[in-house]
Amino acid sequence: MTATAAATAKAAGRYLRLHGRLARSRANGPGLRSVIWFQGCTLACRDCFNPESHVPTAGRDIEVAGLVDEILRDTAAIEGVTISGGEPLQQPEALLALLTGLRGGSGLSTLVFSGYRLEEIGRGPVGRACLDQIDLLVAGRYVPARHQGHGLLGSSNQEIHFLSDRYVPSDLENLPQAEVQVDPAGRVRVTGVGAPGDVLPSQAKEPAARPW
Ligand code: SF4
Repeated sequence: MTATAAATAKAAGRYLRLHGRLARSRANGPGLRSVIWFQGCTLACRDCFNPESHVPTAGRDIEVAGLVDEILRDTAAIEGVTISGGEPLQQPEALLALLTGLRGGSGLSTLVFSGYRLEEIGRGPVGRACLDQIDLLVAGRYVPARHQGHGLLGSSNQEIHFLSDRYVPSDLENLPQAEVQVDPAGRVRVTGVGAPGDVLPSQAKEPAARPW
């Protein structure tokens, strides 16, 4: 694909820049969830635990429709999908296409971690459309002086928004703070808001781990 064609496809939400994936996780929201980390973030929170996710040209492009199809094939096993980053709202068209594809009658719930606050996301039409497709939004910059590391919050200034009636606060009690997975190749993956830093599949050439 030429650079121009790639830019056009990305603008239409056909492709997203992917940082990493986990097919199944219990430490990234309620129930068993598929997790997708977007690549690219310019928000520059101090002490971000996933600086590898910042550079927009790192990671790889992936077609949104193919990713949706793959996840929907696992609908019987998972409760929902968690989307984190990087900053998902810095690829708003791709995020909207992903959320819409996942939500369309599947019964899957959606949880999005964003460094933007709710009001920032809602300022633009694509952001507002994304909010309509999100059940749970964890919003706000990570502030190390207010580190929390549990209850889905990296720091206590962040806010959890229940944007649909799918979940209530008690659904978030007793979530694992972190999770360690070892794949058949022996690669270690550590994720969760209580993890020292995410080691994602895309980084797991060496034993590695993750952001909130
Ligand atoms: S904590 Fe999240 S929003 Fe902040 S710099 Fe890191 S990836 Fe970006």
